[in-house]
Amino acid sequence: MSNQAQSSSGLTRRTLLKAGSAAAGAVALGGCLSSDDGTDSGGADVSKAFSNCWMCSHNCGQEVTVVDGSVVNITGVDGHPRGSAGPGTEGTLCPKGLAQQDKTHDPKRVKEPHIRKDGELQKVSWDEAFEYTADRLVSFADEYGAETFLDATSWAETSIFRTIWRDLYGSPERISRGIHVCAGPTFVTGGMMGVGSNNRVPDYQNSDYIIAWGRNQLNSFAGQFEAKGTLEAIENRGATLVTIDPQHTITAEKSDKWLPIEPRTDGALALAMANVIIEEELYDEDFVENYTYGFDAYREAAADMPPEDAAEITGIPAEDIREVARGFAEAAPRAGISVWTGTAQMGNGWKATQNITALNGLVGNIDRPGGLRLWEYPGTASFGQVCEQDYTNRAEFREPALKKYDEYSDYPVRHIEGIAHNLVPEMVDNGHINGIVVHHDDPLKDGNADEWVEAIEEMALVISIDAYWNGVSRNADIVLPEATSLEKDTLGTGNWSAYPKHKWVTGGKAAVEPQWNTKPDFDILTGIASAMAEKTDNDDWRIFEQWDSHEEFIDDQLSTLDLTLEELSSGEKNYELVEEYDYEKWKDNDNFVFRFDLDQVGSFAQAAEEAGMDTAPEWIPPGTYGDSTSDEYPLEFYDVRSVFFSHGSNQPHERLRDHFAKRNDLNEEDYRGNYLHLNPKDAEPRGIETGDMVQVESESGSGELMAHVTENARPGFVTAEYGFGETSATPDGEGMNTMTLHDKQMDPITGQVDRHIAVDVKPAGGD
Ligand code: SF4
Repeated sequence: MSNQAQSSSGLTRRTLLKAGSAAAGAVALGGCLSSDDGTDSGGADVSKAFSNCWMCSHNCGQEVTVVDGSVVNITGVDGHPRGSAGPGTEGTLCPKGLAQQDKTHDPKRVKEPHIRKDGELQKVSWDEAFEYTADRLVSFADEYGAETFLDATSWAETSIFRTIWRDLYGSPERISRGIHVCAGPTFVTGGMMGVGSNNRVPDYQNSDYIIAWGRNQLNSFAGQFEAKGTLEAIENRGATLVTIDPQHTITAEKSDKWLPIEPRTDGALALAMANVIIEEELYDEDFVENYTYGFDAYREAAADMPPEDAAEITGIPAEDIREVARGFAEAAPRAGISVWTGTAQMGNGWKATQNITALNGLVGNIDRPGGLRLWEYPGTASFGQVCEQDYTNRAEFREPALKKYDEYSDYPVRHIEGIAHNLVPEMVDNGHINGIVVHHDDPLKDGNADEWVEAIEEMALVISIDAYWNGVSRNADIVLPEATSLEKDTLGTGNWSAYPKHKWVTGGKAAVEPQWNTKPDFDILTGIASAMAEKTDNDDWRIFEQWDSHEEFIDDQLSTLDLTLEELSSGEKNYELVEEYDYEKWKDNDNFVFRFDLDQVGSFAQAAEEAGMDTAPEWIPPGTYGDSTSDEYPLEFYDVRSVFFSHGSNQPHERLRDHFAKRNDLNEEDYRGNYLHLNPKDAEPRGIETGDMVQVESESGSGELMAHVTENARPGFVTAEYGFGETSATPDGEGMNTMTLHDKQMDPITGQVDRHIAVDVKPAGGD
């Protein structure tokens, strides 16, 4: 690699890039002025603003310093619900949040609207782009039917995108990050079991025993409060931290105990813990007897999984299983399990999360301090409440294609969710999906990548609303360049946070003007709506005209709280705690029931029967759904998140990639992609050393990565970070789109992408 990258001046490509970015930084900083540090501003226009970070969509508060229209510094906001550990504690930002500064002024952004003319994407004005978009949407609806248009929108700063694509345009088809490519089994089982989709976030600060189950929450989190809350519990309460993960992560490093579990065997471990807790009568009998359903079926399943059997399956010694089960039950109800994608992105993820969530009901930690909190949202006004104009909801009675057509009758997922990310290419082939709007996301890196690339090329209409050129925007018919969150007004109305007894809101006004010829998503969406009103003569599309700006719309949403965005973001902080609520809400709720067995839920019972699955907790071995390792593909691959990248809206900037290389001790290598982490026991027989390029191959795809040989990866298990490669946000950058290894593997109930793939690895040859 390094020889190829040597320039004629003797500089490597890497040093050239470093020199280039240093020069760009100097330009952006201008006179390097600061109003805080006492230095003379030299007549420059220095201001402060608040914003909320949307890189992972979790709204950590940002205080932004602006000099002469450029963002020169971003810091956290003290006490922020998502960005700190709570009252009186320092607010911080992770590297992704800090990189918003780079993103805003990044010359690689899409700077102008584009439409495809004569096969080429060409720059046009916003007026022409909106008019052309409306033309194409109308002709698409005439020719293919609006119901075949897929809304692939993720984490937009405005809440109106669903009104546009579903209610007004009339498509019932939607894939989003939450259920379809993030943690569908976790979200949906939580809802069906009675504790909601927030069953993944415990009340960290008040906990005495925290299990990070398949989570690396000190490295990858939904807001800074997760990592900080965990550390606060350890420091202030002497809490025990246990990590269950095949990798020795940063969280494992800080834990009292690390259980290096065999991948995809979490469901067996959870049942074995239940076995110990039930046998030793450590469970909450009052809660189980009075507030739960289906305990007998659960008891039977747990009885079938003694710790000795689970030890064979999971690779965790029986005494460790007993120790953790006892520790968790004895600390309960101040005992929390943190779960998310790690136990969800696998074919048997449904049962893993059902079995894990069942442990909460067993020990009665539901909505109690330090346990599984039933978080609540603040009462901001919904779109329906603030919209003064009646309109027809065109998608209301339209059935999604997966439910409607016989072609999909083999997929039980259609009973629960109606669409699955990995099935979209097949639906395109069948003519049931013919167009897509991709906003703030990149579905090409979330599963079934090769087929998705073909599907995007095949679709009759592709609209991309994005800040960057990526696999979708480069192949789109229409590209609408989106402003970053520092260039627009934001409102976050979160629930789970560092304030376990408060609902809260957070917001900020644009810190800087949209750079180049870009627009905030609210303006893009309402611009499309106005053009549609003109084109169709249908006044339904005029409903957004009652607001002159996004700020007015946000103010209407905040009106129920007697707040405005100005008030929210012009003081010393950009959040308000708006309502208080208490623990143990289920005691006053006659309808509350914690379900161990889901046979009461008709849609699930039907899907489970077709998938060959029980409604009660049970053990489902790896490979029942999804890949099994074999002689040809003996290693299990799974891609993971990193604090530096990940999630649809993030971009692997140069600075972040440098940090990432440094963390992996590969800073000296002339390569800035993702790495394949593998154990020496797997590397040595294959003649692979750190820094070698290796070929990773599955039954359906292959690609090249740089090897990082490490004891942190369990033998037999190889990992890489996702979000790189030619279809990612840096299509010309190095690294591999890991989902080109993937085919259609998924959880049969929610359609959640199964990211465990059987592979083999060999040296790639050359340098
Ligand atoms: S955790 Fe990081 S990326 Fe996510 S909102 Fe907070 S600062 Fe941004």
